[in-house]
Amino acid sequence: MTQEGRIIKIAGPVIIAEGMRGSQMYEMVKVGEDKLIGEIIELEGDTATIQVYEETAGIKPGETVERTGGPLSVELGPGILGSIFDGIQRPLENIKALTGDYIERGVDVPSLPKDKKWTFKPTAREGQMVKGGDIIGEVEETSSITHRIMVPPNVEGKLTMIAPQGEYTVLDDIAEVETERGTEKIQMLQKWPVRKGRPYKKKLDPDVPLITGQRAQDTFFSVAKGGTAAIPGPFGSGKTVTQQQLAKWADADIIVYVGCGERGNEMTEVLKEFPELEDPKTGNPLMDRTVLIANTSNMPVAAREACVYTGITIAEYFRDMGYDVALMADSTSRWAEAMREISGRLEEMPGEEGYPAYLASRLAQFYERAGRVTTIGSEDKIASVSVVGAVSPPGGDLSEPVTQNTLRICKVFWALDASLADKRHFPAIDWLQSYSLYIDSVQEWWASNVDPEWRSVRDEAMALLQKEAELQEIVQLVGPDALPDRERITLETTRMIREDFLQQNAYHEVDTYCSPSKQFEMLRTIIMFHRNATAALEKGAPAADIISLPVKEDIGRMKYIPEEEFPARIKEIQERIVKECSEV
Ligand code: ADP
Repeated sequence: MTQEGRIIKIAGPVIIAEGMRGSQMYEMVKVGEDKLIGEIIELEGDTATIQVYEETAGIKPGETVERTGGPLSVELGPGILGSIFDGIQRPLENIKALTGDYIERGVDVPSLPKDKKWTFKPTAREGQMVKGGDIIGEVEETSSITHRIMVPPNVEGKLTMIAPQGEYTVLDDIAEVETERGTEKIQMLQKWPVRKGRPYKKKLDPDVPLITGQRAQDTFFSVAKGGTAAIPGPFGSGKTVTQQQLAKWADADIIVYVGCGERGNEMTEVLKEFPELEDPKTGNPLMDRTVLIANTSNMPVAAREACVYTGITIAEYFRDMGYDVALMADSTSRWAEAMREISGRLEEMPGEEGYPAYLASRLAQFYERAGRVTTIGSEDKIASVSVVGAVSPPGGDLSEPVTQNTLRICKVFWALDASLADKRHFPAIDWLQSYSLYIDSVQEWWASNVDPEWRSVRDEAMALLQKEAELQEIVQLVGPDALPDRERITLETTRMIREDFLQQNAYHEVDTYCSPSKQFEMLRTIIMFHRNATAALEKGAPAADIISLPVKEDIGRMKYIPEEEFPARIKEIQERIVKECSEV
């Protein structure tokens, strides 16, 4: 049987080949004399449609298509962290590769270094029964992360050999398992097809928040560990800063950043800044626990289609070790455009705005790979992949199909708003448009880890902000003086919620991170002011006097109080609120 087909037609990133009988859907192939990497995306009898991950210019009909017998896969093992890969996991040695000429076509670049030796430390014993997901050894991959070497998902049996502590490459055999199928040799490197989610035992309820240290996100619009969030990013609205804050501060062990389809120079900025970021928790480079995947707009469009899968497969692999992983995809709109372009080349029936009819299901399949799970293996490990997807709707129009389909799937929406950014309200998260559908499921966590009153204080603050929007309409019509005193107190409180609580300066050494308990006490203090001020008003105190109480200044400065001093100082402020309001 022949393992080679022949090209009959080339249409940009898509080629048609005949003589392909017997190949599989999603089989990886090498196309033409240059052996460009491609993937079969349609099969009809003898004819295969192939999307090619590299520039197809110069390829001619008649050239051969070589089958590889396996699907497009990523290499998983030590060497991933700190790397910058393109959409099909080829390492980008230097960032110049992003803007200028990228990797030579068709070169078989290894994803992970094959000659580098890692210090492997066995943690399992010979004779032990093992199954897929069990940890049998460790490698200190970076100063921040221990890479746990696992039995691959489909292997189960008796461990008949485990290598002693020593230096090994990812291709050296470090273990042998006697399975029903015979002896399986295990290396530190595993391969996994990118389009297939890695298995887990059970999906857990999203009831633990992913704490980011950012007040607007944690208190008002929390995302759960293993949850999904969408963030639109009009230019200059603070998307990059928001993503970097998440990468630095979210309580995730591993960060996977997928830069997808933005222009080369914009992405270069992100990719230049990332390696310079310091991990605030350890002082080590943030890259020690980060993987970057970059596919700029000038790289082949099919590789862009693949890059989110490469990213999430890597994320799942670290999840299987027991880590919490946060994946950011920027931007999923560019990813959807890649789908649209390929679908157009295939002459498929277009759906809304030319996107393929399967846009919604592709988006759903991607976000469904997020989750907090018990991992496979003899011992239950709880770990998660959380996904934050940026959307960049043309002209900021949120009604277009990619945004709409994303919002239908994601449970959190952080609406970055350009007009807030213009007013220097950062993070520019619009509190009226944003939402989180995880509040009910994470409130128990807040109640038992922070304070039983968390939900009621949060809801009261949200309700006040909604009331503010109504009042502002009245103020615009009749002027502020027409408002009753009670409403003037409300507006004073909501100003505090906006300026003293929601605004958070990413560049201030204290304010850049706010612990959950500090967040709660800050908001409780503002609500306490509101209640005491309203009570004072009812007893006859003039609104103007209440609004000029000196304690307000302390409320304005609470965000800058360092965490260590905070519990004592906030108590003082709360006592002063009660005292000043009762004396006015
Ligand atoms: P985008 O990526 O959306 O174009 P950036 O993230 O680069 O925008 O943000 C633009 C500018 O807004 C930043 O340079 C910074 O001055 C300001 N900014 C954004 N977010 C914050 C924040 N949380 N704290 C302080 N400044 C911010």
